Amino acid sequence: MLAYDDISLSPDGRAISLNGQDWLDLGTIRDIPPENTLRDPTILEQFKYRYPLEFDLTQRAVPFVDPGRLRNAAFFEALYFQTEQAARESLVYVTEPAMTQASFRVTRKRNVACQLAAALAALAASDQDYNALFADAGGSFNWRAIAGTTRLSTHSFGIAFDVNAEMGKYWLWTGAKEDAVGHYDNVIPESLVTTMERFGFIWGGKWHHFDGMHFEFRPELILYSRMVPD
Ligand SMILES: [Zn+2]
Repeated sequence: MLAYDDISLSPDGRAISLNGQDWLDLGTIRDIPPENTLRDPTILEQFKYRYPLEFDLTQRAVPFVDPGRLRNAAFFEALYFQTEQAARESLVYVTEPAMTQASFRVTRKRNVACQLAAALAALAASDQDYNALFADAGGSFNWRAIAGTTRLSTHSFGIAFDVNAEMGKYWLWTGAKEDAVGHYDNVIPESLVTTMERFGFIWGGKWHHFDGMHFEFRPELILYSRMVPD
């Protein structure tokens, strides 16, 4: 509710509604195989794995520990869009004059574009040079499924962007099995990740199924990690 101000909670505390739309069951955190949770999580299960605010990539060694990669489809459709057309109508290009290669098409909805512009400005104002990471950036809005699945990627809603793919790396390209992704040889600097997190974007490099180029607007996960004791 802090992250998305139009959420209301049902009197029994078991469902939420966004902007007066239909009630969505929060569900429970089920005792089922993690691959099944990943395919079709409840809204509560989105919080099953705590997103680590510290820059610690050892937690991701545990298979299926993917904080933020568990996404309830109905929740995201209610938060954002049900159709490609609706998503497209909300898009805007976000650029940063001091970082000419950083140009991303994201949604204006829920202040995503505004938060991304602020994050890029903060990066540009720092004394580090991030240009190589934003050269040949992997992209942003793209109405598509996640590779190898039928689940919509959050790129479909214009809330995600990718930095340079070769530098970021992606678990599927290693040939790894889904339940045994190995070491992630990271070159993404901590300062980039912490700056993005400060503006509400999580980083896919903290996932077992690492997607080190990927950043995604998920203020609810960051607020949860900050505010709810471990
Ligand atoms: Zn991505």
